[in-house]
Amino acid sequence: MAEGSFNPFKMAQQQFDAIAENIGLDEATRALLRNPEREYHFNIPIRMDDGSYKVFRGFRCQHNDARGPSKGGIRFHPQETIDTVRALSMWMTWKTAVVDIPLGGGKGGVICDPHNLSMREQEALCRGWVRQIARNIGPLQDVPAPDVMTTGQHMLWMLDEYEKITGIKAPGLITGKPLGMGGSLGRTEATGYGAIYTLREALKDLNIDTKNTTASFQGFGNVSQYAIKLYQEYGGKAICVSSWDNKDQKSYSFKKSDGIDLEQLLSITNRFGEIDKDAAKEMGYEVLPGNEWINQEVDILVPAAMENQINAETVINIKDTVKFIVEGANGPTTPEADKIIAEKGIWMIPDFLANAGGVTCSYFEQVQCNLNYFWTKEEVLEKLDKKMTDAYHAVADLSKSRKVYMRDAAYMISVSRVAEACKMRGWV
Ligand code: NAD
Repeated sequence: MAEGSFNPFKMAQQQFDAIAENIGLDEATRALLRNPEREYHFNIPIRMDDGSYKVFRGFRCQHNDARGPSKGGIRFHPQETIDTVRALSMWMTWKTAVVDIPLGGGKGGVICDPHNLSMREQEALCRGWVRQIARNIGPLQDVPAPDVMTTGQHMLWMLDEYEKITGIKAPGLITGKPLGMGGSLGRTEATGYGAIYTLREALKDLNIDTKNTTASFQGFGNVSQYAIKLYQEYGGKAICVSSWDNKDQKSYSFKKSDGIDLEQLLSITNRFGEIDKDAAKEMGYEVLPGNEWINQEVDILVPAAMENQINAETVINIKDTVKFIVEGANGPTTPEADKIIAEKGIWMIPDFLANAGGVTCSYFEQVQCNLNYFWTKEEVLEKLDKKMTDAYHAVADLSKSRKVYMRDAAYMISVSRVAEACKMRGWV
């Protein structure tokens, strides 16, 4: 999913190098953590509905498993690249460490466009992916999950194929499963809600009442929809969202100055999180160019679509009213933009902290599968809130006491925890 010359892995390594220098990490640990421990690249041949055969390219990267089994999603995307998967697997290592759950970092992907695949073809792709990697994943090895354009249904096909191959029931193999099939209540809400729990704490710290704030969101998929829901429940006003339009092959922003109606927008949104622009116009939304979401005079920006969205070119469009950025997406901000955001004094809640709710709930899903006993949604969300709140305060306290940028503080905590685990195991 890299755009143009943007390389997310280079960015992830650049962020890591700066922190390694900052905390004085030794050379061997740096070398160990700069690259994934293991990566797999493979072909997935599929018989298409018209009888022809097509070969897709699949990946899995296991960045680090010193603190527990690798953990991370599988993306289906036409512009997927191995470097995107590498970067995301590295960010997963930092994410599981910052919320202090006993898991490592992994990520997978397939270069494909689910828009152009029937459900049968997608099932074949899921089963083919598992056949190529079954020996190298497992409940105690590496645990995949849904990500961009993959769902609980995809996870269940993958689990089913794995159980056929191994001959055992292994619900802990994969998370994000449908409810009643080993899934956890609260998983759908977890990432978006988790981001807003951290925002709630940040607003409290600055004595700002959520009811007096406005926000603009990039993306209208799983993360953004639930982030908007909870933000609105807390009394905030979301005035702008953007989404991709597959027909026009570009994005649009949808604005309503007196606040968007979430339910109404959901009724004109497809399963890929794409808002119907004609229907939105009829409902009274201003339909603006895709990059307008960032130009809004709001207190809070929530990039929740994809990487490289707040970069050297776009960061200059951020209005002086913006006090918080909550990164729902992975890697939405480049290091060049980070510098300017830090100078402007905007309070950044970085991706691997802000969007860690998903993996935290996935961890809860594993725990429940292992216990074979499932919690109520209230129990799950209460535990999630506690984890996110504690993680937020640990990072914010370090950021304030050491006077470092929030992303750096989060990295310092994560990298130190992972480096310590590698050392205690005698790896470096
Ligand atoms: P999704 O597929 O449900 O939604 C993605 C949304 O982004 C859609 O509304 C799509 O239209 C929009 N979009 C795509 N390209 C766009 C563009 N150029 N401009 C504007 N909008 C665009 O995905 P999601 O699960 O909501 O994930 C969003 C981001 O959050 C990704 O970076 C993902 O890796 C990250 N994330 C997701 C989870 C999770 O649990 N879902 C967890 C952690 C991180």
